Amino acid sequence: MTTIEDALRGPVASLIGGTPVEGEGAEIALIDPATEEQLTSYRDGGMSVAEGALAAAEDGGAAWRSFDPATRGAVLARAAALIRDEGERLAATESRAAGIPITDARAHVAKVAGFFDYYAGWADKIDGRVITGAGGRMTLVDRVPLGTVVQITPWNAPIFTAGWQLAPALAAGNAAVLKPSEHTPVTSLMLGHLLLEAGVPPGAISIVAGLGATAGARLVGDPRCGKAVFIGSVPTGRKVAATAAASGRPALLELGGKSAAVVFADADLDRAVAAQLGGIFGAAGQSCTAGSRLLVERTIYDTVVARMAEGAKNWRVGPPSDPTTRMGPLFSADRLNAVSAAIESAQDAGARLVAGGARPEGLPDERGYYIAPTVFADVAPEHALAREEIFGPVLAITPFETEAQAIALANGGEFDLAGAVWSRDGARALRVARAIRAGTVWVNDYRTLGVQAPFGGMRGSGFGRSSAAEVLAEYTQSKAIWLDPEG
Ligand code: NAD
Repeated sequence: MTTIEDALRGPVASLIGGTPVEGEGAEIALIDPATEEQLTSYRDGGMSVAEGALAAAEDGGAAWRSFDPATRGAVLARAAALIRDEGERLAATESRAAGIPITDARAHVAKVAGFFDYYAGWADKIDGRVITGAGGRMTLVDRVPLGTVVQITPWNAPIFTAGWQLAPALAAGNAAVLKPSEHTPVTSLMLGHLLLEAGVPPGAISIVAGLGATAGARLVGDPRCGKAVFIGSVPTGRKVAATAAASGRPALLELGGKSAAVVFADADLDRAVAAQLGGIFGAAGQSCTAGSRLLVERTIYDTVVARMAEGAKNWRVGPPSDPTTRMGPLFSADRLNAVSAAIESAQDAGARLVAGGARPEGLPDERGYYIAPTVFADVAPEHALAREEIFGPVLAITPFETEAQAIALANGGEFDLAGAVWSRDGARALRVARAIRAGTVWVNDYRTLGVQAPFGGMRGSGFGRSSAAEVLAEYTQSKAIWLDPEG
């Protein structure tokens, strides 16, 4: 693969035991979200390719575990360097295939290299402990890999989510079988090739290009799967957890969100407005942490509504390849239809549309799944726009009168992935941050994430934690070895 076009044209072949393997199942088309043109098509890897990946992981995983931990770390550091070397090609391919603005795609690739650097450092620091017990017995508590882990990733941030999960899984000494979204497999495959080039043994990493219902379900339901790690939508996540549970295997679920940001009257409004515009319109709202609900204190409500509307109207929408574009198209015709339906339903329910709501003007041509940055004010807390993940650039603003009411509104839904509080009163900001039920809460900030901090949802947004030391606990298990000093 020498150019982006080569990468995208394919053949899109799974990477199994170090070898490209083409599927023989149903035809899957890859569509450019900005032009609606078909980039290429490939055949579903299906059950047989999934089986090949699981089989290859047995020997590949054993080889990887035989490396010294420090050597595993060196391999991952080499992978980080290779990802940086190939950064522009990876970013351009990601941008084209997933409709992600090129500036964002470059940032995603840089983050992925950072994940490998970060977990390279962890590879030889995963240690256990010693417990002294009754009769002078000692217990050695070791931390051991799970064996083979299956990772299922979505289309909205393909290489980011692949690197996010592959790096810690490998650092902990597991073999990883990754199934990217059938709609965006190419950059995950490119990443797989770079990992092999860095020195990960064939089979310790496999990338399965195929459908969820065939290849995905086969991987997750197999007893060789030590854990199913799923990033995607709520309904699929629940199905994946049930499939894994049927063979007694655990799951980690990173699902959708409906995050609320609470803005008090004493907030720095310039910063709050800028960050919350980025929070909802970044990634065209197709992000699990999209700041899709804004709860605003009544005394500043009209001001904030006007400023968010103005910001939305000025938000630069354009082709993903343009470095000045801040928001590209939605990912697919299905997504455009679903977001348009949510907008219509909000209008029918009496929410006040103050920006967007239709295809933006000024685009180069009529093609692409574009929708303008959209802001609704006066959204009733019980309306779907305030409760369900729309996964598009649609903001719901709701007023509140008191701190207690703001907390109740923020905690009123099912999806508790992230949230934010804006206030110059430090005590109140901390009080509200602690009261918001979410895996991540920002104070006077939004959407800043780092691999050094645990990340994950509460309640409907999933369970388990990705990133930081917490994810290494997810990818290992403790093992107690009892020593009898009399023996
Ligand atoms: P999706 O649930 O449709 O698909 C996700 C993956 O699951 C795909 O790879 C798909 O092929 C696979 N899949 C489908 N059926 C399966 C089955 N029966 N068994 C195994 N695998 C199966 O999600 P999507 O539309 O690709 O992604 C968007 C969703 O992802 C949003 O809800 C978003 O919030 C969520 N997301 C969450 C996080 C997070 O960290 N919490 C990050 C990114 C995206």
